[in-house]
Amino acid sequence: MTAPRTPTIAEELRGAGLRVTAARVAMLETVRDGDHLGVEAIASGVRDRVGHISLQAVYEALHALTAAGLVRRIEPAGSAARFEGRVGDNHHHIVCRSCGAVADVDCATGHAPCLTAADDHGFSIDEAEVIYWGLCPRCSSS
Ligand SMILES: [Zn+2]
Ligand SMILES: [Zn+2]
Repeated sequence: MTAPRTPTIAEELRGAGLRVTAARVAMLETVRDGDHLGVEAIASGVRDRVGHISLQAVYEALHALTAAGLVRRIEPAGSAARFEGRVGDNHHHIVCRSCGAVADVDCATGHAPCLTAADDHGFSIDEAEVIYWGLCPRCSSS
């Protein structure tokens, strides 16, 4: 018996129909190691791993990874886009109004959509995007 093997990042990229490049592998590693990173932080993480990459190339690769479902993009109102590797589980986010810190909150019901619309207007609803706003422990104690 062979133990089930988790696919390598290169295999995940190929499986999603994306060309495998060192920069894309480094980007996925950076996003997964990070905690809701912004584009600048991702660019510097990729540079640490593979050397120079332009911000434009980072934007393009993030777009491709997001479209392929390997990366999730969140964009809380008033904040720049953040990216994370936790995808496909319909989790939500809590955002600090003061410093912008982001934390994960598990799906309220275990599956999408979390909320039942009072009136669905005939739409077939598959997602409710929930952002909880407040102050993080550090900001609320200062
Ligand atoms: Zn805060
Ligand atoms: Zn998250």
